[in-house]
Amino acid sequence: ARESHSGWRVHHGSDNAQIDREVSLLGELDEAVRDGSLEVVYQPKLDLKTNRIVSTEALVRWRHPVLGPLGPDAFIPLAERHDRILPLTSFVLRRALRDSADWRAQGHSVSVAVNISSLLVSSAEFFAVVTEIVGDADFVRGGLVFEVTESAAFTDPDGAVRALKAFRSMGIAISMDDYGTGQSTLSYLQQLPLDELKIDRRFVQHAHLQAGDAVLVRSTIDMAHQLGLKVVAEGVEDRPCLDFLTSIGCDMVQGYLVGKPAASAALMKQLKTSVSKAA
Ligand code: C2E
Ligand code: MG
Ligand code: MG
Ligand code: MG
Repeated sequence: ARESHSGWRVHHGSDNAQIDREVSLLGELDEAVRDGSLEVVYQPKLDLKTNRIVSTEALVRWRHPVLGPLGPDAFIPLAERHDRILPLTSFVLRRALRDSADWRAQGHSVSVAVNISSLLVSSAEFFAVVTEIVGDADFVRGGLVFEVTESAAFTDPDGAVRALKAFRSMGIAISMDDYGTGQSTLSYLQQLPLDELKIDRRFVQHAHLQAGDAVLVRSTIDMAHQLGLKVVAEGVEDRPCLDFLTSIGCDMVQGYLVGKPAASAALMKQLKTSVSKAA
């Protein structure tokens, strides 16, 4: 087969090389999911009223033997294109629930949020996996959050609403991630069964400096509160930004100021110090 492609290869060398790379990366990803060598790191969500870490977000990492540490943007789209997002997400979900059970065993009641690809939200296979996991003894109602994006809602609106309702009835909270970057209509937002809204960091980061962003963030918080949702501001990197968000009634913040994504053990340490600080 290599021979017969050689002519084509000369003219489209770079395309072909890229396909080769993608195929081998995919094989390595399959292996990493199978042998559990993917890593999951956790980034805290700080409650501004109590000044306590109330939740964390699970973010997947891949320490590739040759390419080095890879962030999700380097392999999630690949997994999505090649039908590997279900096994990958099942892995992250199980690991996240196991780690959060460890935190609970140490006395920290902190929920864990898992990012759910739009491709999975209304998938029957994913639903079966979730049902199985929720049946496990370790599962605690309210201890798990699914972060979904507006595009999930758009690929299959009715299916998404149905699935999210079913997850919620299992005790899983639903968070709308990267809010403001999609194109949800207000009426659709109202139909979705949500608990939390995360305002995308592109609106958050300069909200204390730019009047336009400030208006968007403030009015999003007001709207969310009137819909009964908690609001998380993403990407908070400095104190003035945090102070501004506190002053306009934002419920929670996430970002490098509070904590970068960290391994479970490091997160546990941060939970311990945040408790002693609050006490
Ligand atoms: P996201 O869910 O919106 O996650 C937030 C991203 O912003 C994370 O990047 C996080 O490290 C980064 N971030 C957090 N705080 C700050 C900050 O203060 N400043 C800046 N500049 N960045 C900050 P990461 O880990 O590279 O994740 C990127 C995206 O990959 C995530 O966006 C999420 O959509 C996706 N992702 C991560 N893990 C998974 C997973 O297990 N499954 C799926 N389907 N997607 C995942
Ligand atoms: Mg997220
Ligand atoms: Mg986000
Ligand atoms: Mg974002």
